[in-house]
Amino acid sequence: MNAQCSNVSAWGLCWCVCSGTITFPSLSLNFGLNSRVLMFLGQLERLNGEAMLADAEIARQITAKILHLIQTQGENTKPLYLPNVVNNTQHLLTVGGGRRVGVLVSKGGTGILLQMLLSASKEWPPSEELMLQLHSVLAKVGPKDRKFGVKARLNGALNVTVNLLKQNLQNPKLLLPCLQVLRVYSSNSVNAVSLGKNGLVELMFKIIGPFSKKNTSLLKVALDTLGALLKSKTNARRAVDRAHVPVLLYIYQDWHRNDTRHRHMLIRKGILGCLKNITNIKLGRRAFLDADGMRILYNTSTECLPVRTLDPLINTSSLIMRKCFPKNRLPLPTIKSVFHHQLPHIPAGGPVAQLYSQPPGVDDVVDESDDNEDAEAENDTENEEDKDLHAQNDDIETDISKLRPRETPSRPFEELKIYERFFLELSEDFQGFNFDNPKAAVIDPVTAPKSHCSITVPTAQGLPPKYPTTAPLQGERHLAKDAQPPRLTGVVCPRRGGVGEESPVEEGAEEDGDEGAVLEVPDTALLLPLHDPDLYVEMVKSTRSVPQYSQVAYPDYFGHVAPTFREHILERVYGVQRTKIFQDIERLIHPNDILDKVVYDLDIQSSPVVDDGESLKFNSQFESGNLRKAIQVRRYEYDLVLNSDINSNHYHQWFYFEVSGMCVGAPYRFNIINCEKSNSQFNYGMQVLMYSVQEAIGGRPRWVRTGADICYYKNHFSRSSIAAGGQKGKSYYTMTFSMTFNHKDDVCYFAYHYPYTYSTLKMHLQKLEALRTPQVYLRQDILCETLGGNGCPLLTITAMPESTSNDQICQFRNRPLVFLSARVHPGETNASWVMKGTLEFLMGTSPLAQSLREAYIFKIVPMLNPDGVVNGNHRCSLSGEDLNRQWQSPSPELHPTIYHTKSLLQYLTAIQRAPLVFCDYHGHSRKKNVFMYGCSLKETVWQTNISATSCDLHEDLGYRTLPKILSQIAPAFSMASCSFVVERSKEATARVVVWREMGVQRSYTMESTLCGCDQGKYKGLQIGTRELEEMGAQFCVALLRLKRLTCPLELRNHAHLLDVESDFIETRCKVTSPSTYVLEDEEHSFMEEVDYSAESGDELEHEPDVADTHDNHLSDSESNSQRDALT
Ligand SMILES: [Zn+2]
Repeated sequence: MNAQCSNVSAWGLCWCVCSGTITFPSLSLNFGLNSRVLMFLGQLERLNGEAMLADAEIARQITAKILHLIQTQGENTKPLYLPNVVNNTQHLLTVGGGRRVGVLVSKGGTGILLQMLLSASKEWPPSEELMLQLHSVLAKVGPKDRKFGVKARLNGALNVTVNLLKQNLQNPKLLLPCLQVLRVYSSNSVNAVSLGKNGLVELMFKIIGPFSKKNTSLLKVALDTLGALLKSKTNARRAVDRAHVPVLLYIYQDWHRNDTRHRHMLIRKGILGCLKNITNIKLGRRAFLDADGMRILYNTSTECLPVRTLDPLINTSSLIMRKCFPKNRLPLPTIKSVFHHQLPHIPAGGPVAQLYSQPPGVDDVVDESDDNEDAEAENDTENEEDKDLHAQNDDIETDISKLRPRETPSRPFEELKIYERFFLELSEDFQGFNFDNPKAAVIDPVTAPKSHCSITVPTAQGLPPKYPTTAPLQGERHLAKDAQPPRLTGVVCPRRGGVGEESPVEEGAEEDGDEGAVLEVPDTALLLPLHDPDLYVEMVKSTRSVPQYSQVAYPDYFGHVAPTFREHILERVYGVQRTKIFQDIERLIHPNDILDKVVYDLDIQSSPVVDDGESLKFNSQFESGNLRKAIQVRRYEYDLVLNSDINSNHYHQWFYFEVSGMCVGAPYRFNIINCEKSNSQFNYGMQVLMYSVQEAIGGRPRWVRTGADICYYKNHFSRSSIAAGGQKGKSYYTMTFSMTFNHKDDVCYFAYHYPYTYSTLKMHLQKLEALRTPQVYLRQDILCETLGGNGCPLLTITAMPESTSNDQICQFRNRPLVFLSARVHPGETNASWVMKGTLEFLMGTSPLAQSLREAYIFKIVPMLNPDGVVNGNHRCSLSGEDLNRQWQSPSPELHPTIYHTKSLLQYLTAIQRAPLVFCDYHGHSRKKNVFMYGCSLKETVWQTNISATSCDLHEDLGYRTLPKILSQIAPAFSMASCSFVVERSKEATARVVVWREMGVQRSYTMESTLCGCDQGKYKGLQIGTRELEEMGAQFCVALLRLKRLTCPLELRNHAHLLDVESDFIETRCKVTSPSTYVLEDEEHSFMEEVDYSAESGDELEHEPDVADTHDNHLSDSESNSQRDALT
């Protein structure tokens, strides 16, 4: 007991919050409380005597009983003691600060105070002094008590304060604490509705007003309260109906004009906060536009730009303007893919059926954001936390029967028997096999040309007259030395190892002028053993695309030599997004500055390219190309629209297009305006890729990371809810980047990630075949034909037996199988580069490679979705579906590659040869590093917190070994990012189906970042093809280690690899949140700290210290959101 407490104890009731306990030390009998109160107080005191050991629950119960008694007492006699108590409490809290308030709250003090308030309000007239004191205390306690609003409502205290306010509008002394309490009340959404009904919105509008140096603290609190009230749609509507939107805009301008020394930032921000909440409803946005809000906020923001401390105002203004920017549909006749592919049949349900049954005009955008909503919908949102909690675990599979491997074979063996022909190695006896000429083992080369169409290198069209247009590549090879070669200048000097040391600016097209020069293909044979331009063109001829492409893009033709310089993850420049958004808003403010000139349009298929020599020239009519439309907005700014996946109306993310006709040194800005994901690694340092033909012929044929001022944000384009598949008018996002070109007459290509076409795969496979050594057993089969008529390659790689001795053949046939696949998602080209690394390693001559081949039989489907790749899709096959969601029951007609790949695995399972490892390579657009997803019953159950059942589950932990090895040997790989939880949304993916139906314990998805690494040797660097290929090779090395570890003798020495307990703890906390939107699910659910979408946290708020010192104490939620924004 300290001195302070003993002083006040004479008054009777005292919360001794300084020592963390509640005491009622010597309640005098003068107050007439009966002996029962004394008894309880005695109990409480004894409890508190045991200091911190006191059971809080008992203390709370006793407090409640006392409270009850005080109440009963209060009804009978005038509660004389109240003012003193309140006074003392207030005094204590003032002295003690936050911790004391916290203790008071934890001991149930809020309830007592609210009861006192009620008791006091029953006096008539209420004592002004007492009300003032009570509100002052409540204003301090409220922000510390998360349930304050609820308690106040349940106690019936809300209207006490509202009524007091109504009667004391001219009494600033009482007004301030009342407003402070109301501010806390209003932060509860149910309270906000109720307070609005009682006229609090109108009251606030009576208090706030134009610039004045008086009562600024009061004004600030009123604005905060109003802002909180306006979060309720009913209140927002009320404010719009009474024409308060122009009032707010007027007041804002007035403060903007008069607060020249920026001392009242918080007030200005408070006004914007009200506007921000009102404009959450459609009526509010309309009122804002009618009141010329766009121009007003644009102008005030522009004037604020030079003052850094005003950033919060600019950011909030920008948020409001973006929200109110009238929604537009995309500048397209329809958002359905520009290309159509007739399906053998339309699937009975699902997205494609829906697409085909859509009425015309579904693309049309109306502002649907608050249609059909009514006041009831707002009530009872008090369980928000609980909801969040549930939502987090929503996607995790909780049905244990679904998690247990299914034992029974799903198909009769007779049906699977036809797949025997893909497993010749399992019965191969090599009788009559000529070991001196082992290439005879090869059957079915994938790449036999099927047709001989005319192929053109595309971009010569874009070159000035001295470069003859297009190079028809009919029949056999040419390009360089035929009668009409495209003549690009430049001498090609492939330099081993040294290629790429120079900055890309150094050399270039200056050496034009030599009329006689011919196009020299960079001689990359030494650097790129698997690349051959002529072979590439041959491969293209047999590739079938829906648009029947007849052009070849230079990068695919020349090949890509990975640069040797480092490409760092970009630091985000402050204010970039804001600048870009303001430029977008200017389109509305200054419509006359906008050109709106269509320069490329695939919807006009006869002549998509517009070329008047004044604009950039675009093209994407080549394999994997994706650009639907280009619109010149300003002289150096272009809006680009991507095509949907075929038989779909969305999945825009992958892009690959060509640009020519550029001005050297001009600051071009490109905006891809129909991105769909809510966030992107483009916000976290990822750059686009560019390939310059001039650089290539100058000896640097390569993709480089490029682009400045890159950012990704929600824009004003959207689609109707029907078109969006039932989701309320979904908005699109803009990915913007700026670019200056270094070479005149260049042809440049831009891509989302390093392109890797189907023709490239075929070329690589053929080269691998040619480079094969006699030790390698390689078979290439065509697993099946795709919907588009392309072959799906299946590779078998293992070591040749040394002889035909029984032992050798037996060992050969009985090697465990490893099954690998990649590129089910066409936009994830990184998966193909990883696969290339794997294939090259497997076919290599190193002793490790030989050991690996001797250890396993590899079955590889390197491209599960050739059609998607060929046609520039991002996610789907020609059936308009995500093939990695079809593994549960693939259709042989609509999903042939999945159907037959699954059949191979079913066949293996049926003959008791299920693979030791299954791994499907993917790319990940929202996370850094390379990592794996696996399947664990136990870890899944663990995440769902059904601990009761988890103890009797037995599971071999072997599924962790491979990722663990990878984390030790592969620099890009991160164990911390791995997850072994089975989610419901993934139940039809390869990984889960192979695990559950085939019983393959080591069934994985390996995800490679599209961006870069934030750990390990490559920390801070963007990922390139070299690192991706290395990853593929390291995967092989890891398999070799796995082999050794699965040998019991070795296991003892590697026990640390199986030290999973610590890993469990590591990963346990990372529960991935659900993602219902199909685009976002494989690419997780992972959002980095900052959300750049328009609805939330868009403002990086930096509250300056200079602001309103009178009212420096922010409510909890305010200070939290600031902290969050700053982290
Ligand atoms: Zn994927």
